[in-house]
Amino acid sequence: MTDRIQGIHHVTAMSSDPQRNVNFYSGILGLRLVKVTINYDDPSTYHLYYGDPQGSPGTLITFFPWPQSPQGTIGLGQATSFSFAIPKNASAYWITRLSDAGVPFTTEERFGLPLLRFQDHDGFQIELVESIETPNPQVAWDNTPAEVAIHGFHGVQLASVRPDSTERLLTETMGYFLVAEENQIKLFRSPAPLANTVELTQSQVQIGRMGTGIVHHVAFRAEDDADHAAWREKFVTAGMRPTEFIDRNYFHSIYFREPGGILYEIATDPQA
Ligand code: ZN
Repeated sequence: MTDRIQGIHHVTAMSSDPQRNVNFYSGILGLRLVKVTINYDDPSTYHLYYGDPQGSPGTLITFFPWPQSPQGTIGLGQATSFSFAIPKNASAYWITRLSDAGVPFTTEERFGLPLLRFQDHDGFQIELVESIETPNPQVAWDNTPAEVAIHGFHGVQLASVRPDSTERLLTETMGYFLVAEENQIKLFRSPAPLANTVELTQSQVQIGRMGTGIVHHVAFRAEDDADHAAWREKFVTAGMRPTEFIDRNYFHSIYFREPGGILYEIATDPQA
């Protein structure tokens, strides 16, 4: 088994109107709508999957559109933002594209990387981070040139009710390295080529509440079923209480709430 988690597999979030969601993530951000399924746990709702055309782990963001749900509160016990990786110097293109679409944004630099920060119509905190050194010409999108397109996730930012325990699980069990710290944010990295950062922020003070505009869970990546089983054992040893293995049809999953209140999933790569 690998002793380090291979980055983020997918992020799942609660949104409101499905059509506005497609317009934003497909139309404005240029992600491919890879799949629409019925939500297995609640067959009255859909589940939207965006990613690269292969639906590769590390590129997938999925939404449960739940229009009747109240808006949530971003805060402790959640992933408070997610960031996508764009090539170096691609910000100028995205500034024009977001401006044309009427999406307000701010620019900043964090851990040495320029980034754009904005929200979607549900209030999700989204960033485009210039973390790709060499654009991959294989990343071909419907409406975005390859040299500026989103390559997948850069990472997520977590706000924990017990930051020390969250950090310990990341570093001692999941194999993340603490690589930098600035402005009350710690940066952790895994050796995966994409979707390899987790930030832990200490600037949040209010307790988060589930609802639209909120990340439901962050899924991390196990290689295959054998690796998945080994990870389950490892999390049990670390005091977590993971669910049994769940067949998601597309990949296999276990879930548990980490000590800081954030719901984690460990998912295998898509099954052939
Ligand atoms: Zn999931």
